[in-house]
Amino acid sequence: AAFAARSAVLDSPKQLTDEAAVLEGPPQLKARLLANENPFGPSEKARQAMVEAMSTSYQYPFAYTRELVQKIAAYEGVTPEHIMVEAGSSPLLQAAAIYYAQKGGAIITGDPSYRDLPDSAKDLSAIIVEVPLTKDYKLDLEAMEQKVGSGTALMYLCNPNNPTGTMLDTAKLKAFCERVSKKVPIFIDEAYIDYVPNPQATTMIEAVKKGQNVIVARTFSKLYGFAGLRVGYIVAQPATIKLLSKYAVGGMSISAPAIRGALVSYQDQEFMKDTLQKTLTSKEFLYETLKKEGYEYIPSVTNFVMFPLKMDGKRFVEEMARRGVGIRNWKFNNQEWCRVSIGRMDEMQAFADAFKQLS
Ligand code: PMP
Repeated sequence: AAFAARSAVLDSPKQLTDEAAVLEGPPQLKARLLANENPFGPSEKARQAMVEAMSTSYQYPFAYTRELVQKIAAYEGVTPEHIMVEAGSSPLLQAAAIYYAQKGGAIITGDPSYRDLPDSAKDLSAIIVEVPLTKDYKLDLEAMEQKVGSGTALMYLCNPNNPTGTMLDTAKLKAFCERVSKKVPIFIDEAYIDYVPNPQATTMIEAVKKGQNVIVARTFSKLYGFAGLRVGYIVAQPATIKLLSKYAVGGMSISAPAIRGALVSYQDQEFMKDTLQKTLTSKEFLYETLKKEGYEYIPSVTNFVMFPLKMDGKRFVEEMARRGVGIRNWKFNNQEWCRVSIGRMDEMQAFADAFKQLS
């Protein structure tokens, strides 16, 4: 029963309650496919850099933090004033939730989409306007734009979208940002954009560079395999960074080894290429498994895949967990869905074996 309750818990639980511990999954899981983590990381070079950084870790990490901000700024082609780093992107989503909620008004988001920012804002009395996805499971930009009014505080777009693994058309999103950011700030959560073939061409950091009121969030938790190390950042107008920094910890929140590891990861093209290839191989194996069992799925550009279930979602999650496989369930469009993160091949095989017994 405890495991069934976990579908109500978010991807990033705020309190370490028993329910949140259950979300983590039983320690004996054979396949941990429930939190969109990347089991191929962190890279070997990042691990070495982190071990080396231990010897100076009695010092506060200010200098390292400054270096991280400068390197990210150089990499993204903006000034350091456009960057804010934190222990993962969650604290940055939280800072935005607090700032925009306390301004009053509504936050527009997709449904289903990542709920962290809207839910935090809702706890602080913001009004959340949820806009259903289009028929092809993408954020419905037209419908979201129609909801913008004088009472709108923020537009939150998760692109690629969690949990559907779908991505907006770049030209369409660019035009949307140019038009809509004049009326309302747009927060674009790009946690999974590193999995897309050409992230540099699809990121909306471009819109920030053009001076638009757009905030882009990125994380090292996914492609770089840093979920347990906690490194994330946002790129936004310097005035926005100043405002949001009041609601986050800032320079002292990321540990020195994690920063050193992140800096090395950024340069480790070989590791990234290898991870992308392994992710693709595992994803194709999952697609084949689903097809063989007569299931459809939403084609995904990310490291997770969503597919419609033919049984009760909670029961499915419990039955899979009993077989050592952790996944998550959703309900939308009057349909039960399962989201499977892409793991190692042995994990995908464990999923396939358990799934065959149930389908
Ligand atoms: N945004 C999205 C869309 C996510 O899926 C996640 C993690 N589940 C996060 C942000 C937060 O990740 P982190 O705090 O590890 O950067």
